[in-house]
Amino acid sequence: MAKDELWHGIPRKDIPWFPTVDTDTCIGCSLCYTTCGRGVYEMQDNKAVPVNAMSCMVGCSTCGTVCPVQAIAFPDRDLIWKLEREHKIFKVVRQEAKEKMVKQDALKARATAEDAVAKLTTRVRFEIAGEFGEKRFLVQMEDAVKERPYDFVNLRLEVPTVQGMSQKTPSFMSFEVTSTEQEDIQNFLPDVLDLIRRNGFTLVSENKM
Ligand code: SF4
Ligand code: SF4
Repeated sequence: MAKDELWHGIPRKDIPWFPTVDTDTCIGCSLCYTTCGRGVYEMQDNKAVPVNAMSCMVGCSTCGTVCPVQAIAFPDRDLIWKLEREHKIFKVVRQEAKEKMVKQDALKARATAEDAVAKLTTRVRFEIAGEFGEKRFLVQMEDAVKERPYDFVNLRLEVPTVQGMSQKTPSFMSFEVTSTEQEDIQNFLPDVLDLIRRNGFTLVSENKM
């Protein structure tokens, strides 16, 4: 928390809650420095120095708890309880809690929605091999998606040689099946497999993307 921020409606700068280190007792173990997530400490000459004391979270005393030689001290907790009473912070706290719940519910809802989308199969890449000399397969592909929310994209035909093609040497084709409405395409996949089978092609691979 920056110095000019509020702690439940009270300016942080008006709350004298921060650690002080007894440098004679400190053995420089760095535990407070590595424990504090607020960047309160720096290690200087093998001693912990609370250089950003007012970034300390009001009420936290974790570094003092973990210090192996009890070199860290805090004000008496009465200070905080007195502030809470005098500033009647609980009205503010209730409002903050309400806002936090709304935010958390929204985050949960978003995570659930993202999870559902991640579970959808919206694109599958196929690799097939066979003899693609005629246009029949392309026409059937076109028919398969006519007036349906699907499409074939990124079609690639690899023909080893033109002479090989005339001699009916197997070629290689890859394409992706997608939904034009970002919907699940699971129901369409059996049609694609049937199309491949009916044309006598070999399915080399089928991968969800
Ligand atoms: S945890 Fe205690 S002994 Fe270790 S560096 Fe911090 S103040 Fe010093
Ligand atoms: S009490 Fe907590 S926030 Fe404050 S300096 Fe220690 S670890 Fe950091």
